[in-house]
Amino acid sequence: MTQAPARHALFGHPVAHSLSPQIHAMFGRETGIALTYEAIDCRPEDFAAALERFMAEDGTGANVTLPLKEVAFPLCAQVSERARASGVINTLVREGEAWHGDNTDGQGLLRDLRNRQALDLRQRRTLLLGAGGGARGVAPALLDAGIGDLFVVNRDGTRADALVDRLGLPGKVHARYYDDLGELGDFSLIVNATSAARNTGLPKLPMSLVGSRTACVDLSYGEASIPFLSWARAARAHDVVDGLGMLVEQAAESFKLWHGVRPDADPVYAELRQRHDALVTAD
Ligand code: NDP
Repeated sequence: MTQAPARHALFGHPVAHSLSPQIHAMFGRETGIALTYEAIDCRPEDFAAALERFMAEDGTGANVTLPLKEVAFPLCAQVSERARASGVINTLVREGEAWHGDNTDGQGLLRDLRNRQALDLRQRRTLLLGAGGGARGVAPALLDAGIGDLFVVNRDGTRADALVDRLGLPGKVHARYYDDLGELGDFSLIVNATSAARNTGLPKLPMSLVGSRTACVDLSYGEASIPFLSWARAARAHDVVDGLGMLVEQAAESFKLWHGVRPDADPVYAELRQRHDALVTAD
C-alpha cells in the first residue's frame, strides 16, 4: 500500500506570492519524500480555527509567516529553546494531536551569511532595522553567532524596547530611534528586517552608517529588497545580500524538522536565484 503524501502548508496574510510551495516541492523531489505544500491565506483572528481544521485534515507540518508568527506561539503545546528566545514561531511540527513550535529563521540567516556569503559575523557592531516577527527570529541567532553590540531601531519604539528587554543583555543590546541614526557612527553589519518597502518605504538612512567593511543584509527579496539594497550599494557597502538565501535555508531547516532529513539547499537556491535575477533584470 502506498503511503499518503505528508501534508504541509504555509499560513499567512498575504501568501499568494510565496516561494515556499516551490521550494518544498523541489526538496521533496530531491529527497524522494512524497509531500504536498499549499499556501493558505489566513487572518490572525481566523488562525486558531484554520490550524485546527488543518490538523483534522491530516496536516503534519506547517510554516507561519507574517502576520501570524506571534499568534502561533500560544497555540503550541511545546516550543523549542530558540522559539522561546524569540517569542515567535515560523515552523509547526505535529506531535500526536498537538503542535510543537520552532523558529528556523535565525538558523536560516546564519547558514546563508556564513556558508554562502562567507561572512564572519563575530564582533560585528550590528544595526537591526525592525522589531517584527523576522527581527525577533534572527536577533537571538545573531547574538549567539558572536556579533558585537546590537542596536535595534523600529518605527514603533515600544516594540524595539520589548525586543531589547526580551534579549536581556543590558550594555550590549540597545534600542534607538530612526532620528538617532545620524549620531550612531558606522556598523559592520546592518540588517533590514522591516516590511517598509511593501508600504510607505523606509525612513531616510544616513550613509554614515556604512563603513569600509559593512555588510548590508535585507531579509526581503525580489522587489521588496530593491530600495534598501540600492541604498547599501550607493553607500558603498562591502557586502550586499538579499533574503533569498535565508528563505531557502530556513525552509531546509523546517523540512529537516518534519522529515528528519536536511535537503541540499544549494541547487534550489541556484535555480531560484537564476529566475529571480532574470525577473529583476527584466523590470
Ligand atoms: P512584521 O509585520 O512582523 O514586521 C514588520 C516590521 O517592519 C516592523 O518592525 C514594522 O515596524 C516595520 N515597518 C513596516 N513598515 C515600515 C515603514 N514604512 N517604515 C519603517 N518600518 C516599517 O513582518 P516580518 O518581520 O515577518 O517581515 C519583515 C520582512 O522580512 C518582510 O519583507 C518579510 O518578507 C521578510 N522576511 C524574510 C524572511 C526570509 O526567510 N528571507 C523571513 C522573515 C521575514 P512597526 O513595528 O513600527 O510597525
